[in-house]
Amino acid sequence: MSPQSPSPRFVVHQHHATSRHFDFRLEVDGVLASWAVPKGPSTDPHDKRLAQRTDDHPMSYAGFEGVIPAGEYGAGPVIVWDEGTYRHLAHGRHEPQDPGEAVRAGHVTFRLAGHKLSGGYALTRIGTGPRERWLLVKMADDAADPARDLVRERPESVRSGRTIDQLRAGATAR
Ligand code: MN
Repeated sequence: MSPQSPSPRFVVHQHHATSRHFDFRLEVDGVLASWAVPKGPSTDPHDKRLAQRTDDHPMSYAGFEGVIPAGEYGAGPVIVWDEGTYRHLAHGRHEPQDPGEAVRAGHVTFRLAGHKLSGGYALTRIGTGPRERWLLVKMADDAADPARDLVRERPESVRSGRTIDQLRAGATAR
């Protein structure tokens, strides 16, 4: 197990594969713990966004943007929809101080500092099985805003400025 970074990273990939979804990833113990969020993150604390746990990814994947070739797992375009750092909050007296332990225990809260997303979020496991079901929920704080819809308002990559459709079109044109 790698030591936890003092300023761990987070990344949200937008990915159009068999299904369209967002991949929400937190640096935990030297890898990117990952959840597929069909609707993407919300800024409304009343929204409970389904988040299915997926395989850990290596840290080197955090900056990936491009088209996964046909025939490979997850074939389709990917953009870096948001990225930044997070701080584990260990919210409540029952949440472990270590984020890896919190994830394993099924409840982790954290404060994001990204280009689009900011403030507190909670991930909570609601079901086990081959693909664990979790919920991603915005915490009620200064960064909460039920009137906003960042998925619609800010579709562009924070790395290239391109939307996922522009990225796909560019890749096809070459
Ligand atoms: Mn994906």
